[in-house]
Amino acid sequence: MHFRLDPNTEAYRDEVHAHLEQVLTPEFEERVYRSGVAHDHDFALGLVDKGYFAPNWPEEFGGQNRNAWDDQVLKEQMMLFDAPVYLSETTRMVASIIRHIGTPALQERILAGALRGDVTIALGFSEPECGSDVAAATTRAVREGDTWVINGSKMFTTNGHIADYIFLLARTAPDKPKHKGLTMFLVPCATEGFEAQAVWTLSGERTNITFFSDVRVGDEWRVGDVDGGWQVLGLSLQDEHASGWGPHLARLLQHTESWATTTTLPDGSKPMDNPDVRRRISRAAMENEVSMLLQRRCVWMAEQGQIPIAEGPMSKVFSTEALERASQDIVEMVGPDGLRSYLEPTAPERGRFDHTLRFSLGTTIYAGTSEVQRTIIAQRGLGLPR
Ligand SMILES: Cc1cc2nc3c(=O)[nH]c(=O)nc-3n(C[C@H](O)[C@H](O)[C@H](O)COP(=O)(O)OP(=O)(O)OC[C@H]3O[C@@H](n4cnc5c(N)ncnc54)[C@H](O)[C@@H]3O)c2cc1C
Repeated sequence: MHFRLDPNTEAYRDEVHAHLEQVLTPEFEERVYRSGVAHDHDFALGLVDKGYFAPNWPEEFGGQNRNAWDDQVLKEQMMLFDAPVYLSETTRMVASIIRHIGTPALQERILAGALRGDVTIALGFSEPECGSDVAAATTRAVREGDTWVINGSKMFTTNGHIADYIFLLARTAPDKPKHKGLTMFLVPCATEGFEAQAVWTLSGERTNITFFSDVRVGDEWRVGDVDGGWQVLGLSLQDEHASGWGPHLARLLQHTESWATTTTLPDGSKPMDNPDVRRRISRAAMENEVSMLLQRRCVWMAEQGQIPIAEGPMSKVFSTEALERASQDIVEMVGPDGLRSYLEPTAPERGRFDHTLRFSLGTTIYAGTSEVQRTIIAQRGLGLPR
């Protein structure tokens, strides 16, 4: 196993880095943060123009046939810059499922639009009463001839207020065991009866609670088999569970090192002169290295044709908990100034310490909580009983 990037991948990483450095200006960053929405239409179109939307897709589907390492360095750069890509990512995730199992008509409608940046898709899995146990979904879809009538609500439908479609998990057979009575749909948000209401999170991000009141969609919007939704959902959850968050920690480290070397304390010294500061920064740097290696192990496995069924969750748990630990430790180290608001000009590092701490708390929840990930590692990685 080796994780060294080949020169082509390094060149690709540098190209992505240069693009992000150019477009993610401080003014842009401020605008995105104040909106609370991790999406910007022009920025997303720029990604499409550059071929960064789905570079690892085959050319016949509009991709560039790039390998898993190129895809990985692209994701790493997006996180390192905290680029507003969440809606692009969920769109790509769903489009990828449609590419594999969607009907030709659905492929034609969605794939070309997604690759042009005209079509966006948000995820509607979690509900007010169930998130981890997502198979307990109660949002109903009832068939009336060639139409489905959908009623229910979804919680944390991030970007549901601006997306074109919701990739919706709905119960179609209440009498069957819970995993066997679910079906996936792509619901056009312009359909009558759909509504998104804002939910604001601790990190300042806007997500939504979405309501489906007698929403009628044709059967052509079904993705996968009737009552086969659990298998379809599995394709996207596997993608989510294999995520690594190391680059967010790398960004925090950059700001911490900058603070520690440029701040002058009342006695004339720099924080970096203090052995305790160096020790704390080193600890975060070590955890960052482990996070990156765990994530790259998943990429290496995928490249070998293996599914990182437990290694993905290991990467997710470690990298998000390391981010949380480091954010808390660094705020404590910087002191009360570390809690001054994000983007406040006089706050150290323009308030990145405060923001990363608030942001880090959510990372151990979405895309599968740490407890759920540990259960997967125990059962599917270590073979422990339920
Ligand atoms: C900012 C944000 C954005 C999100 N975006 C989306 C989105 O776009 N689309 C979407 O569908 N969802 C989204 N989610 C929802 C997210 O996936 C869920 O919050 C998550 O799966 C947890 O579900 P829950 O909130 O219902 O908590 P619960 O499942 O009720 O969990 C509560 C606590 O109990 C623990 N727990 C639950 N079950 C077990 C178990 N079996 N064993 C041990 N411990 C357990 C959990 O780990 C957690 O600590 C988002 C969430 C957040 C916070």
